[in-house]
Amino acid sequence: MAAGPSLQGYVIKGLPVIKPGDDLAALIQSLFDLQDGDIICLASTIVAKAEGRFRNLESYQPSPKAERIARRVSKDPRFVQAVLDQSDDVLLEEPFLLTKTHFGHIGVNAGIDQSNVGGGRILLLPENPSRSAEKLRRSLKKDCAVIITDTCGRPFRSGVTGVAIGWAGISALQDWRGKIDLHGRPLEITLEAIVDEIASAANLLMGEAGDGTPAVVFRGLRLPSGGMESVFMPEDRDVIRPLLRK
Ligand code: GDP
Ligand code: MN
Ligand code: MN
Repeated sequence: MAAGPSLQGYVIKGLPVIKPGDDLAALIQSLFDLQDGDIICLASTIVAKAEGRFRNLESYQPSPKAERIARRVSKDPRFVQAVLDQSDDVLLEEPFLLTKTHFGHIGVNAGIDQSNVGGGRILLLPENPSRSAEKLRRSLKKDCAVIITDTCGRPFRSGVTGVAIGWAGISALQDWRGKIDLHGRPLEITLEAIVDEIASAANLLMGEAGDGTPAVVFRGLRLPSGGMESVFMPEDRDVIRPLLRK
């Protein structure tokens, strides 16, 4: 068999239901023998839980804007207020509330979850997932990359996939520009969203329901060097956002 490079993915088993203050780095390292070069993918849900990002809807006082949006989309105005509080910009109000979070990710309901949360509460995304990833990375005994994932829908395509909303120790995008194709032609526009590709594979192994497997480790991937920093499309290069404002 003429096999090329391979990638191993390991689901970490045995993680508890995460509570505010839990030390995710310690938990992971107690359950799994990390090696240098591993890529650890964590569902944003558990990072948010460890960071105490639970909220009660009762604590929100909806503004007139939240009331207005809530009426249009038949949502709880307190939930809409929670979304607005996490957002810099509202891109769509219906058929779903699509906003840009303070840290740059664009997502439905600013990524606020009610599934796998418990206790009738909501769970905000981590305040700054790349900062969370970097902090976690620094507390590991091995030199690993960390990717924080969330399950999201995609424009133009049905179905959700995992995407990276924070990362550390890895370039977000691999820059192929200038590399030569099979026929000697230099590539012009290919930026490959490495962290999203890894996040979607991780999401596939994590599951969405009560699987209880929010952490996946990939081993064997040769990481791109000197790539680019972020998968969040800068607003001045985004051709979709202006269309939504029409
Ligand atoms: P998201 O994609 O970050 O919004 O997270 P999901 O709610 O889709 O959960 C992803 C995976 O993590 C699923 O396997 C869940 O069962 C699991 N999960 C969520 N919270 C916890 C937790 O506190 N502890 C454990 N062990 N698993 C969790
Ligand atoms: Mn989520
Ligand atoms: Mn998910």
